[in-house]
Amino acid sequence: MKIGILSRNRKLYSTRRLMEAAQARGHDVRVVDVLKCFMNITANDPKVFYQNKENNAEELEFDAVIPRIGASVTNYGCAVLRQFEVDQVYSINESIAIARSRDKLRAHQLLARKGIGQPITSYASSAKATNSIIESVGGAPLIVKLTQSTQGNGVLLAETKKAAEALINAFRGIGTDFLVQEFIKEAGGSDIRCFVVGEKVITAMQRKAAKGEYRSNLHRGGTAEVTKLSAAERRLAVNAAHVMGLDLAGVDILRSAHGPLVIEVNSSPGLEGIENASGIDVAGKIIEYIENDWKSGPNKPKGKG
Ligand code: ADP
Ligand code: MG
Repeated sequence: MKIGILSRNRKLYSTRRLMEAAQARGHDVRVVDVLKCFMNITANDPKVFYQNKENNAEELEFDAVIPRIGASVTNYGCAVLRQFEVDQVYSINESIAIARSRDKLRAHQLLARKGIGQPITSYASSAKATNSIIESVGGAPLIVKLTQSTQGNGVLLAETKKAAEALINAFRGIGTDFLVQEFIKEAGGSDIRCFVVGEKVITAMQRKAAKGEYRSNLHRGGTAEVTKLSAAERRLAVNAAHVMGLDLAGVDILRSAHGPLVIEVNSSPGLEGIENASGIDVAGKIIEYIENDWKSGPNKPKGKG
């Protein structure tokens, strides 16, 4: 197959591993930076072009693409991906599903619609509602989370009601979109990353936050080891990915006193942590899945949203 990896940097571990795995399985693979792509939007001959090193426009022709679109280029990256979709190119994750998962509010609403367990989450525009949203998540301590957060950067713990009010007012003052969420204390700074490919969790790891930290992101010094999932956790992860319409997803779960809760569904889950923790050739499994799924034809709309 001719496979395109849509990634800004070929040196990133995940990009490199996907490239190696595709080559090892005999595919013709190329990494393309979405910001160097442009497109012509026509009904009869839609195309994606690449502005190459010689500054010439080159048409991109792939059987399948693997989007690895960073949060800072979601909009343009999704536009390029959508153009491949218009041209009937297979993508393991579709642009609409990536856009759904990048907005935490929209993602929580879609998951709620399908009855998927998640921490109690509130959202309000009016400053007058501050007290009510604090109360609705059970009061402090609580989490204030930017809707576009990644790598734990926009996730803040307010230990007291006063701190919560101050954070909420500050974010509202600068016009940033945020959610207020029940703090799952009993998770003890740990979460579970479930790596979903198609209808299966191929492996899962428990991430533990560094000392004195409540966010378990590996980018924040968290550590990871493989964990065994319960049947309920496995089902929850697969369902969450399915609702978002993602065939490749990192579903993050907190183990709470009232069962497993989904906090996030990532559309470009990193491979480094999970391959190191599990010893599994995750990149190879992704390529193998694409080979089979591609045969079933171009993309069908998946999920809801
Ligand atoms: P990001 O997209 O920035 O990674 P997440 O929603 O995944 O944001 O949160 C980052 C980390 O913060 C999680 O992996 C988890 O360890 C912790 N966390 C997030 N939400 C909660 C919560 N409601 N209760 C307890 N810990 C949380
Ligand atoms: Mg996360």
